[in-house]
Amino acid sequence: MFAKRIKTLSSSPTMAIDTKAKEFKRQGISVVNLSVGEPNFQTPENIKEAARQAIDKGFTFYTAPEGVLELRKAIATKLAKDNNVQYDPSEIIVGAGSKQLLYIIFQILCDKGDEVIIPLPTWSTFSEQVKLATGTPVFIKLKLPFKLTARDVQKALTPKTKILLLNSPANPTGAMIAPEELKKIADLAVEKNIFIVADEIYEKLTYTAKHLSIASINKQIKERTIMINGVSKSYAMTGWRIGYAAGTKAIIDKMKALQSQLLGNASSISQMAALEALSGDQQSVAMMRKAFAKRRTFCVKELSQMDGLSLIEPEGAFYLFISVEKLLDKRYPTATDWAEALLEKEKVAVVPGEAFLYPGYIRISYAASDEDLKEAMKRIARFLHSQE
Ligand code: PMP
Repeated sequence: MFAKRIKTLSSSPTMAIDTKAKEFKRQGISVVNLSVGEPNFQTPENIKEAARQAIDKGFTFYTAPEGVLELRKAIATKLAKDNNVQYDPSEIIVGAGSKQLLYIIFQILCDKGDEVIIPLPTWSTFSEQVKLATGTPVFIKLKLPFKLTARDVQKALTPKTKILLLNSPANPTGAMIAPEELKKIADLAVEKNIFIVADEIYEKLTYTAKHLSIASINKQIKERTIMINGVSKSYAMTGWRIGYAAGTKAIIDKMKALQSQLLGNASSISQMAALEALSGDQQSVAMMRKAFAKRRTFCVKELSQMDGLSLIEPEGAFYLFISVEKLLDKRYPTATDWAEALLEKEKVAVVPGEAFLYPGYIRISYAASDEDLKEAMKRIARFLHSQE
């Protein structure tokens, strides 16, 4: 019944766990949900107000497929200011979340068999979307501390390589690519004539070093890069579904054409909210980043003291990628079994490494409230004792 390319499609494992945890909550069971990558904060009030105003002023019609000009201008200003890279609004497209724009990029760039290099561990959406576009994911298995180098990329290159996927800071490890490596990667990409899809959605959530955009390195690499970003993580706006992409006019025009046949446009009201997010007061971003930094320190300290778990302090995003390899035994042979038991017994939802094509690990999102994190640490410690 189903098309070949759909038969092997798996739905987002993170979303499946999140749904299960939310179902427990609905039943009145006290569950601590550290699965999905979603800030626990409310969207800042100035952003909500902009959306209310958009409704009240009747800004409720279709917009251009690429998004309203005012918003694209605000994105261009943001990219120049924060990322040191100049784009014209015609080189920017707005979509219903960065996930949706990633889908479009792979659709317009991949022909059957084109290879897309993806470092592991990875957010599973990347490889699933590449396969949907009939491309072939080529994985680089990174080892601790999960920092991609130009040498890693070099080894994965073949004559069929079309795209290199970069995600720094990364989901699920929080790892960032070192600036000197990013520069070498940029040179390699120019030399080998490959495209870079740079998912920079966690750029504002860094704790040790500042984020560097590959497109800012030089003109040649900028022309081969499609930058992806969005307001979900930095502005606590996951439900509003606004992401954006920047690239050459030729690429953005093709994305626009597909967007016009696929989505039409991102919600007009959410676009006005995103405009306020990007051009309004930025204090809430700093406040949330500070809270995440504190939670990161707390969770790293607590979890490092627990026997059997092994982790390093991540540089960015709001995840901890933790090895549970020492705890896997006959009872819980895989990280998935271990995570399922943790959810069943202690009602703590985490995502097993298999969801990131990296078995033996679990991912914890610390974008949860301080109380939830404290409670989760207690429950995880208790679960570990019960395993002894
Ligand atoms: N990129 C990465 C690396 C992510 O982790 C996520 C969210 N899990 C997204 C993109 C999707 O974000 P959006 O809400 O903009 O679709």
